[in-house]
Amino acid sequence: MLIRVLPEDHGYFLRNIKLFHHKNLLFWDLKGSAAVFEYFCAMLVLDGKIAAAAVKESLKTKTAALGANGKRKPHLAAILVGNNGASETYVASKVKNCEETGFASTLVRLDENISETDLLQTITRLNEDPSVDGILVQLPLPKQISEQKVIETIDPTKDVDGFHPVNVGKLVQGLSTFIPATPYGIMLMLEHFAIPTKGKHAVVIGRSNIVGRPMSILLSSNLKQGNCTVTICHSHTPNLKELCLQGDIIVAALGRPGFVTADMVKEGAVIIDVGITRVEDSTAKKGFRIKGDVAYDEVAQKAAAITPVPGGVGLMTIAGLLKNTMQAYEQRVNG
Ligand code: NAP
Repeated sequence: MLIRVLPEDHGYFLRNIKLFHHKNLLFWDLKGSAAVFEYFCAMLVLDGKIAAAAVKESLKTKTAALGANGKRKPHLAAILVGNNGASETYVASKVKNCEETGFASTLVRLDENISETDLLQTITRLNEDPSVDGILVQLPLPKQISEQKVIETIDPTKDVDGFHPVNVGKLVQGLSTFIPATPYGIMLMLEHFAIPTKGKHAVVIGRSNIVGRPMSILLSSNLKQGNCTVTICHSHTPNLKELCLQGDIIVAALGRPGFVTADMVKEGAVIIDVGITRVEDSTAKKGFRIKGDVAYDEVAQKAAAITPVPGGVGLMTIAGLLKNTMQAYEQRVNG
């Protein structure tokens, strides 16, 4: 694929030059100056392991410095209701990542049949606990519990998932807040790989409060990795393929495995696959495989950059959560 690198994109090229060499790419025309140059480039895999490790490393350094100065560590409390397999995996991973970063973590396990009142009381106790900086309640919840009530019960200053209406309102107004972890992780990934976004057309598929809607707000905001013109699509969008074909960046967050196919993507687009669906597969050890919303193999042939599933956005979601927990800690300690 031939790509023209414009002056504003030079940072991306220079920061990733080792990666390009590693992929045995041929640079054939640097034109001697920093104005405009062209190079042959294969598709770039936006590896969540690499970007998340960088975020975690910087948080680890910060946390170690806190310890050296006799200060307490940031503390995340996670509530898990019931025994949903996927939720168990996500929460275990969040707790493990806290430990690796040097944070304290508490896992509160509650019975599937817990009443809404009891769950809300548990959240209130954590709200009042001065040693807890961040609280998350793993979704989805059993049907006897209102997710909205749960979200609204979490103290907004401890709401490290960024779902409380107060924090969503701040996000919309461009104020400092806790950004929902998945869109935050995607923004961190775009920043890590220095993907240019200014003036690009981003197409977001999905309008959930957790992913699609906040993603569309962030990409359209006046941020380093924002300033896109954003189209947000949902299940009532009639001309989805036509819109996707206009996308310089596509964020697929709909939960339909392999939905975005090569014929929906323009050459050189950046593809962010948020989807995580367990698809039955008797040949897999666990009896299922994790599938994204993008038909990876065919779309990768056309994309300039693409996130894998697994190993992409999921890992960045945890990075976003850890960043939010550090932010909550700093706000509590520094006021
Ligand atoms: P959700 O609440 O079910 O929302 C799905 C969105 O996709 C809805 O807005 C829906 O439109 C839209 N949609 C569904 N079918 C569509 C179609 N055929 N065409 C266009 N739009 C369609 O899901 P979510 O919580 O946002 O999650 C989306 C996916 O991301 C899931 O696979 C989930 O597991 C995954 N996820 C991954 C992470 C991560 O860390 N990687 C984090 C969160 C979620 P309507 O509003 O019109 O119904």
